[in-house]
Amino acid sequence: MENLKFENMNLSPEICRAVLDMGFEEATPIQSQAISIIMAGRDVIGQSQTGTGKTAAFGIPCLEQIDAENKKLQAVILCPTRELAIQVSEEFRKLLKYTENIRVLPIYGGQPIDRQIAALKKGAQVIIGTPGRVMDHMRRRTLKMETVKMMVLDEADEMLDMGFREDIETILIKVPEEHQTVMFSATLSPEILSLSKRFLKEPEFIKVVRKELTVPNIEQIYFDVKERTKLDALSRIIDVYDPKLALVFCNTKKRVDEVVELLQGRGYFAEGLHGDLKQVQRDKVMQKFRNGTIEILVATDVAARGIDIDDIDVVFNYDVPQDEEYYVHRIGRTGRAGRTGKAFTFCVGKEIYKLRDIMRYTKTKIVQQKLPTLSDVEEMKTNLFLEKVKSIMEEGHLTKYINLVEKLMQEDYAAIDIAAALLKHNLSDVSVDSIDAIDDINLGGTEIYGGEKMVRLFLNAGKKNKIRIKDIVGAIAGETGVSGKVLGSIDLFDDYAFIDVPSEYVKDIIHGMKNTKIKNKKVNIEMAKKAKNKK
Ligand code: ADP
Ligand code: MG
Repeated sequence: MENLKFENMNLSPEICRAVLDMGFEEATPIQSQAISIIMAGRDVIGQSQTGTGKTAAFGIPCLEQIDAENKKLQAVILCPTRELAIQVSEEFRKLLKYTENIRVLPIYGGQPIDRQIAALKKGAQVIIGTPGRVMDHMRRRTLKMETVKMMVLDEADEMLDMGFREDIETILIKVPEEHQTVMFSATLSPEILSLSKRFLKEPEFIKVVRKELTVPNIEQIYFDVKERTKLDALSRIIDVYDPKLALVFCNTKKRVDEVVELLQGRGYFAEGLHGDLKQVQRDKVMQKFRNGTIEILVATDVAARGIDIDDIDVVFNYDVPQDEEYYVHRIGRTGRAGRTGKAFTFCVGKEIYKLRDIMRYTKTKIVQQKLPTLSDVEEMKTNLFLEKVKSIMEEGHLTKYINLVEKLMQEDYAAIDIAAALLKHNLSDVSVDSIDAIDDINLGGTEIYGGEKMVRLFLNAGKKNKIRIKDIVGAIAGETGVSGKVLGSIDLFDDYAFIDVPSEYVKDIIHGMKNTKIKNKKVNIEMAKKAKNKK
């Protein structure tokens, strides 16, 4: 079936104009198929992957069917999380840009109930809420379902995964017999089907075929890494590609916290998102991600799914996902709306078999690549810096600085030497120019990965001294000027820690950290006695 133009879908002029204002050129496949059927009053089960426009697929026909003259509650949309309830109501508001007299109200946990009760008293024809809070209001009789004509279960798979089945049933039982029920989901499970058997009347199944589950326009790459080198791999790729927004997926909440801490320790603007966070914290993180104050969001599958951000340039599978379908959801977060995106997967040993399954399932190729080496990173940073210098020269307004150069030249320095010295000064934290600095140190724990030598150092303090990885990185950066970004993995134990560092920084770090304190504890760093890992 061809994708339809919104102009040809018998929409009201107000809603059609609003949709075009939203920048939608044509309906997505799920919208093309679902909108007219829902407008005809049929019950529908719609399935298509995340990011395919399911919200408008039920939003448009839902709003088209609301009687603006009737002030009573007419439609209830159930969403799994507060974020999604807010997102859906924002989309509804946009759709209503030119429509008058339809009131949409989001209700969700975490918001003061009194305020919601007051808002409900004012009347709303459409409620968008989480199951728990909707039930709560039903019990209080601040929400009366008697007049409801349409129920929508958005992200039904997720609601069931989150254990909302009983709540959903409790709500649906209270809706009058004569009503339409619409269910949307990224996946169809037996639970969804059994729920639909019980509550939907001769539903129309609309499924956007699996072939379209893979997201086009995405370069899919995997790196063969060791568990221990994942963080280095991540920071290197980020340094080389320099993405504006990167989304890093981990398989567990604990992993998310770990990775965030390590990234922050290395000076990246990273935050985590997972189910254990309080709503307020989650909102804060999302806000920061949207306005660009963080560049890396680390998340679990459940926390990230359904979150609506369009311009993610890179998705990382820090862990290979357990479920093949998760892979598709994850990489679908980049390359949206025709943009190009990249998906990087870290693969440890036998996980390659899992990756092969994923390739078979998605019918795409995930290509292996070598990790960028430190000198790739250096080259990239140097190029960026030189480009910057060129653009500063093109902009002009340099008189003040030219005067400074002339002053130096009067002291008999050559212009080319001055320029070279300035470059050296600016590029020094990038540069790998003293590989022989460690000649007089015995390279005990040398290991090679990504093309350069890593040396394992020993720190005589650890968790018992209340020292965190962040503190170690901070102290090294502060005392020696060696940026956290070049450090390798740090293993923190109760009484000591191991720090992997590129060989060229070893001398600086050992000398620089003499007689310093971390968290008020006098510390010492020396070469680790024995290689922890054999080459
Ligand atoms: P889903 O619920 O299927 O995961 P959403 O409804 O959240 O997807 O839509 C994902 C993104 O696509 C949103 O930013 C939405 O505004 C946008 N979108 C929806 N429909 C269209 C369309 N027809 N054309 C372009 N963008 C669209
Ligand atoms: Mg959705």
